[in-house]
Amino acid sequence: MKVVTVGAGVAAAEFVETLRNEGFRGEIVMISAEGFPPYSPCVMPFFLAGDPLETAYWKGADFYDRLGVTPRLGDPVVEVDDGKVRTASGAVETFDRLLYAPGSKDRYPEPSWLGVHGVFGFKTLSDLTAIDRHIRETGVRRAVIFGGGFIGVDAALALWHRGLQVTVVHRNNRLLSRMTDEEGGKFATRLLAERTGIEVRLETRVTAVNARDGALASVDLTDGTWIETPLLIVATGVTPESGPLTGADQGVAVDEALRFDPRVYAAGDVAVTPHAVDGRPGLYALFPNAVEQARVAARHLVRGEGAYPGSVDANVLRKHVDFPVVSAGRFEGEPLTWQDADRFRRVYLKDGRINGYMLVGDMAAAGYLHRLYLEQTPAEREVSGLLSDTAGTSYYRRAVGLAGR
Ligand SMILES: Cc1cc2nc3c(=O)[nH]c(=O)nc-3n(C[C@H](O)[C@H](O)[C@H](O)COP(=O)(O)OP(=O)(O)OC[C@H]3O[C@@H](n4cnc5c(N)ncnc54)[C@H](O)[C@@H]3O)c2cc1C
Repeated sequence: MKVVTVGAGVAAAEFVETLRNEGFRGEIVMISAEGFPPYSPCVMPFFLAGDPLETAYWKGADFYDRLGVTPRLGDPVVEVDDGKVRTASGAVETFDRLLYAPGSKDRYPEPSWLGVHGVFGFKTLSDLTAIDRHIRETGVRRAVIFGGGFIGVDAALALWHRGLQVTVVHRNNRLLSRMTDEEGGKFATRLLAERTGIEVRLETRVTAVNARDGALASVDLTDGTWIETPLLIVATGVTPESGPLTGADQGVAVDEALRFDPRVYAAGDVAVTPHAVDGRPGLYALFPNAVEQARVAARHLVRGEGAYPGSVDANVLRKHVDFPVVSAGRFEGEPLTWQDADRFRRVYLKDGRINGYMLVGDMAAAGYLHRLYLEQTPAEREVSGLLSDTAGTSYYRRAVGLAGR
């Protein structure tokens, strides 16, 4: 049997490794738009902050050789049809089974901006190696990030850590607006700015980029001002790269074994899966989900059995500065809050069970809270104690039967 993967990212690499661990000895071809060994996008900002490039190769730079894989790199797949994939160069690869895992792609407000020297996305390792080259070659000391979601803040912190002066321009009234509610997000925004010196311009957008001799010179903002900068990173959102398989950008609907059809599995940022707690189908584009989906799909391919338990939506931002922001679930229900000058903790309860939670500034309670959230057992009394537990002993109190007292 011949297995092909579209993509060589997190899901594809985990899928191939699981196939081999499960005893699959057949031919494997991995096709990727980029020219790298499998890398983890979660780790690549550390490369921009100063770590060696190899640290992003989470399964090792020798992955293709070690796993007995034929890589076809630097040639994106443009079409999947009837047991064949076709790439941009016109090459055709046949398959018996396919894992479709090309992840997601940047959604630019104005794609033509990318033609200006000094404007980059922040989605792929190709983006980050280009940014790194630009900084080294031109000695850039100033950067503007357009977009203050998870990826935009990740970019801002990496460049700040590298010593650049950074401004984040964000259309919402707080950073990380999808992983926080309004109060928690404003708290996180204020403290992140204070701790780092990163300038944050809220409720503002970039409307135009201005070039001098082909290179970025400044950006115009909706508030009528402009910022002189030789580096702009656009991180205004992503969309699943499902077009080559389905003809649309809305993700790939899969069954409980991650199958799109009897020969094609899909996993990672492109897969539409049910939520592990409330079952709502969605794009839960996170590393742990990509890994678990890939494992379920690979085991199903080899053994013909297994079901995906559902995706989690736990976001953990803790990079380059000791100021974590952690959240999961829905910010709906009865809010219970505890805060001091440096920390903000909030849990949303619905019928006495955790519907969502948010921790800003420390994550001592994260593991325990997350377990209560996944278990969906009545947790009202424990949550009140947990939120105000500054010593982090709630878990042990529960273990010896003292929880809630
Ligand atoms: C900057 C950044 C930081 C992140 N940090 C975190 C974090 O801290 N925690 C977390 O849980 N998640 C994080 N994520 C999200 C996480 O990286 C993704 O959920 C995960 O990588 C998804 O795996 P995937 O295999 O679907 O996609 P990817 O790992 O992105 O792999 C996609 C692969 O497909 C290739 N490809 C794309 N288009 C094509 C095509 N048409 N044909 C062939 N190949 C193609 C790409 O080159 C790549 O090899 C981060 C993402 C980014 C961008």
